Amino acid sequence: MYIVLFGPPGAGKGTYGRKLSQWLGIPVVATGDMLRAAIEEGTQLGERVKKYVYAGELVPDEIMREVVKQALDSETAKNGVIFDGFPRTLQQAKMLEELLSEKGAHIDLIIELDASDDVIIERLSSRRVCPKCGAVYNLRTNPPKDDSKCDVCGTPLVQRDDDKPETIKFRLDVYHKQTAPLLEYFRQQPVDYLVLNTEGTIEEGEKKLREELVNLGILR
Ligand SMILES: [Zn+2]
Repeated sequence: MYIVLFGPPGAGKGTYGRKLSQWLGIPVVATGDMLRAAIEEGTQLGERVKKYVYAGELVPDEIMREVVKQALDSETAKNGVIFDGFPRTLQQAKMLEELLSEKGAHIDLIIELDASDDVIIERLSSRRVCPKCGAVYNLRTNPPKDDSKCDVCGTPLVQRDDDKPETIKFRLDVYHKQTAPLLEYFRQQPVDYLVLNTEGTIEEGEKKLREELVNLGILR
């Protein structure tokens, strides 16, 4: 089963992606995380995408094609994947359909996560990450026990550059501009399409999502 999890940065794609992965037993392919990891490891791919990622801009399609193809071809992806953060443009959506059709597959379900810009800016600017072990905290909803240090390894927490308010606003603008046509395109596709408002708590969101998946016959 191939699922596209879609929505603005900070709408909860990471959270709901992990849930879906648990429920369905298929991996999440988070292209943003893959690119960030490549940059940190200093790989050739990382070098090529660094400037786009740091500027909050879209990585060119030909690079994304390689990244996505590799993810689809991996052994863990043989029963399907949940795409988090891809596709972001109409071009990328068509590219994904092409790559899937080469495998005799297609997108089975599109889930649009929805939250207002104000909610997102507040949510993301409270996010802190551990630069050592990767643990993620939120100063409002999931604060570390000791001040500003990681619960797991004690390392001082940092704010990602792309979680700073001015970058968030820019990322939201990019999202709205680039993805408006994609949204329209997705809604016209003959595939199951869900909209999940994620402004409430994660528990509420999970419950709603689960009910929807049961209604569609994807979960029991
Ligand atoms: Zn840590």
